[in-house]
Parts: sequence; C-alpha cells; structure tokens
Amino acid sequence: AVPGVRGLRPYTPGKPIAELEREYGVSDSIKLASNENPLGASPRALEAIRGELDEVWLYPDANGFELKRALAERHGLSPDCITLGNGSNDVLVFLAQAFLQPGLEAVFSQYCFAVYPIACRMVGASERVVPALPSAGPMPLGHDLRALYQAIGPETRMVFVANPNNPTGTWLDGRRLKDFAASLPPQVICVIDEAYAEYADSDVLGDASTWLEELPNLVVTRTFSKAYGLAGLRVGYALSNPGVADLLNRVRPPFNVNSLALAAARAALEDVEFIERSRAANAGGMEQLREGLAALGLEVLPSAANFLLVDFGRDAAPVNEALMRAGVIVRPVANYGLPNHLRITIGSARQNERLLSALAEILPAQ
Ligand code: PMP
Repeated sequence: AVPGVRGLRPYTPGKPIAELEREYGVSDSIKLASNENPLGASPRALEAIRGELDEVWLYPDANGFELKRALAERHGLSPDCITLGNGSNDVLVFLAQAFLQPGLEAVFSQYCFAVYPIACRMVGASERVVPALPSAGPMPLGHDLRALYQAIGPETRMVFVANPNNPTGTWLDGRRLKDFAASLPPQVICVIDEAYAEYADSDVLGDASTWLEELPNLVVTRTFSKAYGLAGLRVGYALSNPGVADLLNRVRPPFNVNSLALAAARAALEDVEFIERSRAANAGGMEQLREGLAALGLEVLPSAANFLLVDFGRDAAPVNEALMRAGVIVRPVANYGLPNHLRITIGSARQNERLLSALAEILPAQ
C-alpha cells in the first residue's frame, strides 16, 4: 500500500444492534451511537422511495438534476454550485482528491471529525492538528479559530472546520467563523462541515452557504443523514463556487448517489414540517438527557447538535462495556483521544430514559 494508507486508522462506527445482540446475548437493545434521527425518516421520503422502486433497473440520473435543482432553490444558489455525494463523507474525500497531494497539507482541530485525517492521508497529504480550546473555558474542547489561523503554512491548501463539531458538539459563532474564512490566503480552501446544521441555532452559528458569493474559497458540506433521517441511503452534498464544484465533480465517480436516495432526498427536502418536528424533539430530548446526566453527577459539554459528549472523569471503557451488557449502545471516543468520554445520541424519550436508568444502575457499582 502507499505510505498514506499504511498510516490510516480505520473509521470505527457505532456497533450495529445485530452485532451487539449476538456478542452479548442480549435482546431489545437500543442504539444511541451514530447520531441518527430517532423519529426515523420523513413519511414523504419513504413514499418517494416506494414510488421509485419500479425504476431500480435503470441507472440513476448521474448528475442528480432534480435533487440539485431542489437544493439550489433551497440555498438560493445555482445548481452548478453543487456536488452530490454518497453521504457527505464522499464529498470530503473528493475535496482531498481534488486539492491535496503529497507535499501539501490540511489543517484541522484536535477532536475534529475522524474522516478529515482519513481523507487527507489517503491522498498522501500531510496533516497539521491544532490543539483544541481548553476544557476549562466556555467552549471546552471546541475549535480554536486563532490557533487554526496561526497553523496555516505555505503548503496548506485546506482547513476543515465542523460547525457544530462531532464528537464534541461544540460550535463556533457564525460571524467569527466568517471572518476566519475571509482571512485565509487565497490558495487555502475552507471547508465548513454543517452536518448538524439543521439542529443548531442559525442566529448564532450562521448559515455558511450564504457566504459563498463573498468567499470564493469556501466549501460548505451538508448531509441527509442526520436531521433528515436518511443515513442508510447515503446522500450528502457540497456547496461551493462553480469552479470548485466543477473540479469536485471531475473526481466524483459516476452514479455515486443511487436512485432511491435521490428521490428520497428530494422529498425530504420539501418536508419542512418534519425537520421542525425533529428539531423540537431533539431539543426536548437534549433537555431530558442533560438533566438526567446532571442528576447522576456527570458533566456534559455544551452541544448544538443531536448528541452529548459526557465526561466520566475516568476511563469510560468499563461504563461503555456495562452499557452494552444492558443492551445500550453509545459511542466510545477513545480513538478521538477522549478515553474518559462517551458520545451519546439524543434518542426518543423512552430511549433516553432507558439510557439514564442503565447508567443509574451501572455507576454506583463501578
Ligand atoms: N461530518 C460530520 C461532522 C459528521 O459527524 C458526519 C457523520 N458522522 C459526517 C460528516 C458524514 O456523514 P454522512 O457521510 O452520513 O453524510
């Protein structure tokens, strides 16, 4: 293998329920590990999938004409600003393929989303990891924009910033983030990953897609996997200026988004009420979990997303193990350099209750 690939650490997803149940001999398990929407998918998306089933013998529209048109309308941009991906992970890889190579460098924060280093290393580029904000401050373990700016060197071609960030849930003020993007040298692409944007308060975080006209080096990524509840179908996209989108579309494999996904995403986009309901459910569930975790004496980080990063103050692996024995799957984040934390997706009220009562039994025994 090429050296960059040898240095890769595999992405470790949340354990699937079937695997847990087989390994631990438990049943009736719940999974709060992958930041999926506990409401499921929009009924309109499901209906669109059913309507598309008779057509699966045909190739999908390779350019996603209809979905791009709908997205362009949603974001007030032209369709040639859009690159569709098999999940937004796909477009993160296109970015690395189009703009990075050995000898060039990408900058990102400690505790950033795990796919940034993977995308970077798979094309043999170097990475510069910038220390996160201190855990004692107002945005513990969040991205430090000043430090990110200072890390930009002559070989830097890309900066990855997630707003809100996974796995921390922390966020950046929109005005400060826009100033940061505007201050970058012209050869540096600023990727703002808005996978969780639908859950966040856009008055605080801003909407980076509205900055594209002013900022030619900005790329904004979004996904249908989170609030839209379509994680299994794999659809995401990048918004950028048409020149960048043209390059991204050159490395994009043909037919990378399947026909069911294209139809579902288009229908999901129209179901504004479903997103509102998902936001409200998430806010309620977040409150329930926050209160429940505080009552157990646990510290959580601030979060603008659909998950909480919980600090157990000591190695969290035994807690994770006990949760799995109780049929509750959450996400260990030791591979992110956070061995004392677990990341917990906001579930339905019943799932949250189940997690809290499992923890109430586990913690005193540990
Ligand atoms: N960015 C961030 C910050 C994420 O948390 C995720 C999902 N884990 C993704 C991108 C990729 O999601 P998807 O490929 O499902 O769109």
